[in-house]
Amino acid sequence: MSARRAAEAFRAVHGAPCEGVWAAPGRVNLIGEYTDISEGFVLPLALPHLTWVAARRRRDGLLRLHSAAAGGGVVELRADRLAPGAVRGWAAYPAGVLWALREAGHAAGGADLHVESEVPAGAGLSSSAALEVATALALDGLYGPFTDLPGLARLARRAENAFVGVPCGAMDQTASACCVAGHALHLDTRDLSRRQIPFDPAAHGLRLLVADTRVAHALGDGEYARRRAGCEAAARRLRVRALRDVPYAHLPAALDALRGDAGLRPLVRHVVTENHRVGAVAALLEAGDPRAAGPLLTAGHASLRDDFGVSCPELDLVVAAAGEAGALGARMTGAGFGGSALVLTEEAGAGEVQRAVAGAFAAAGHRPPRIFAVAPGEGARRVG
Ligand code: ADP
Ligand code: MG
Repeated sequence: MSARRAAEAFRAVHGAPCEGVWAAPGRVNLIGEYTDISEGFVLPLALPHLTWVAARRRRDGLLRLHSAAAGGGVVELRADRLAPGAVRGWAAYPAGVLWALREAGHAAGGADLHVESEVPAGAGLSSSAALEVATALALDGLYGPFTDLPGLARLARRAENAFVGVPCGAMDQTASACCVAGHALHLDTRDLSRRQIPFDPAAHGLRLLVADTRVAHALGDGEYARRRAGCEAAARRLRVRALRDVPYAHLPAALDALRGDAGLRPLVRHVVTENHRVGAVAALLEAGDPRAAGPLLTAGHASLRDDFGVSCPELDLVVAAAGEAGALGARMTGAGFGGSALVLTEEAGAGEVQRAVAGAFAAAGHRPPRIFAVAPGEGARRVG
């Protein structure tokens, strides 16, 4: 896939050349899972996999959307009639972005859009943020400039929260917009301050693998809402604004204060230790010692599995099989209950790890996972 192909497909669909092509990557979170609901820290990196949006302005105020992946034809909407809840299906993501831009007072109008993507959808790799951010950048390119990349990420998140109706945190869109190749992005989800942390696995003889389990356990939004409510209740009980304000050194005292509340204690233990792991992994990367981050990834997985309760048998199997095959560390990444796991391994042992995970899935009777190597890629940009 390429910018040129997206431009050619645009012409075939919309019958005229596009004015430009913009792209945004999917992301994988190295560490810092379910910390954003407590205003904590995350450490994502951009995938090499991109979503492309080829676009052209329209004078008649229509938004005409087409995606190669979505099937079906062109979805036609009126830019001035967009409202939360009014658009269903995939078109809500790009339509929501135009709505959010206009809501913020930016003079973006109608457009023809064509979308191509190589980010696997629904695998926990943020194809939704890639689509939103690429769309935001395209509309900014056509009608702007309106704002900078962090600003576009904020509007893309608003589109997903308020227009599509998915209560995601700030990580996905910020990572897709603001990541830098060869770096992980240290993001404080309270004030959105960012720090680029050098991370080049290949330069250290390492490989980072993503294993998409290709399962999605439909547990509904209730699981997310319940944990969010639990973290908020624990913060109130501990008299802090959010669990991010419980220092790691105070964890024993916090757990003691929640004695008798067996439901909240494991949530607090996960969030506080996970925030601590984000800091520790960032420090190791900055010190040029990414190998030592491996055990922290695996500890993060155990915490999500045992304390936060968001893993599933397939994710646990990736982590166990990779560990037995000599990987340095592995963890589920994203919201869990399916989706993808991340494995850090020596480059020399990567093939062995891949075979072991595939073999374990076959032996357990699971569908074969999709396993691929990733390197920290570049965030959103104009590509054509
Ligand atoms: P994730 O972001 O982890 O991939 P989500 O459920 O948040 O999973 O987003 C997936 C949804 O985003 C898809 O169901 C689809 O509606 C939309 N989407 C993502 N990429 C595309 C694309 N290339 N074309 C059309 N819709 C897309
Ligand atoms: Mg998503």
